[in-house]
Amino acid sequence: MPVIKPDLAAAVGNTPLIRLRRASEETGCEILGKCEFMNPGQSVKDRAALSIIRDAVARGELQPGGTIVEGTAGNTGIGLALVGASMGFRTVIVIPETQSQEKKDMLRLAGAELVQVPAAPYRNPNNYVRYSGRLAAELARTLPRGAIWANQFDNIANRRAHAEGTGPEIWEQTGGRVDGFVCAVGTGGTLAGVAEALQPKGVKIGLADPEGAALHSYYTQGTFDAPGTSITEGIGQSRITANLEGFRPDMSWRIPDSEALPIVFDLLEHEGLCLGGSSGVNVAGAIRMAREMGPGHTIVTILCDYGTRYQSKLFNPDFLRERGLPVPRWLDRAPASIP
Ligand code: PMP
Repeated sequence: MPVIKPDLAAAVGNTPLIRLRRASEETGCEILGKCEFMNPGQSVKDRAALSIIRDAVARGELQPGGTIVEGTAGNTGIGLALVGASMGFRTVIVIPETQSQEKKDMLRLAGAELVQVPAAPYRNPNNYVRYSGRLAAELARTLPRGAIWANQFDNIANRRAHAEGTGPEIWEQTGGRVDGFVCAVGTGGTLAGVAEALQPKGVKIGLADPEGAALHSYYTQGTFDAPGTSITEGIGQSRITANLEGFRPDMSWRIPDSEALPIVFDLLEHEGLCLGGSSGVNVAGAIRMAREMGPGHTIVTILCDYGTRYQSKLFNPDFLRERGLPVPRWLDRAPASIP
């Protein structure tokens, strides 16, 4: 029987779950990665993008030919632009000037109009997220077909994508034999959404927080402390977003880059998985959970996005060396000459 998807939106989600060999062998657990990099926009954020667009259409806020506005440093913008294009919407993305050229190029390729603003903290009214909210309100007034603000941090259509998609998919793919789920937080949509689906079934939920983020400190001590820094992108939150409201992890760890990055390099060298830095934080978190739970458990985590998005940073030996981060041997070698 031929199986044909009607459009790109229908190809979002239902990603495979694969066994991570080394992590599983080292811990005596089954550590499984949900391959979100296999979504059409090569990241987990396609799910949130689709859910936010569908929600706005259902509410009558987004009309055919309308414009979607968002402040984003990358994956959400790519998801909104691609899914938006397939459904007939325009996308305007507000992005800090400091973001990598790869991401800006991909956003343009995906059909987004880019508005570049100087990098500024959230308290500054010209911060990219706050700027995008104002721009959306202005375009909603002036464009004949209107505009919406995707507002991924505080729009719970984002969490719903995972409560109704990612979480139930994990349950079905494991036949209900899953003991733990762990991932990092950007908006919190993935972690809180999967928790909404799986915590009531007895699955333990773990937070893997990068350095420079404050949620580990919040959930373990009640204070927002964010020591250290991380080169990972798309994660690291310091407030309770609307997507995190009502959520509480059962376990929590702070994962340094020195622990996460060797995992990313190892997965590429030995298991053919080309991933971004946040996936390393997630797998490191799954390994920590496995060690705490002991052998024999099944733990699922998220492989968030594809590694080619980070060639000039994570996979650039000079970039790593400048920051005192470990450089894998194979990345540092001169190209081999094949006789
Ligand atoms: N990893 C990457 C690479 C991301 O872009 C994001 C989204 N910002 C996340 C992880 C975190 O996902 P969420 O927003 O659902 O918390």
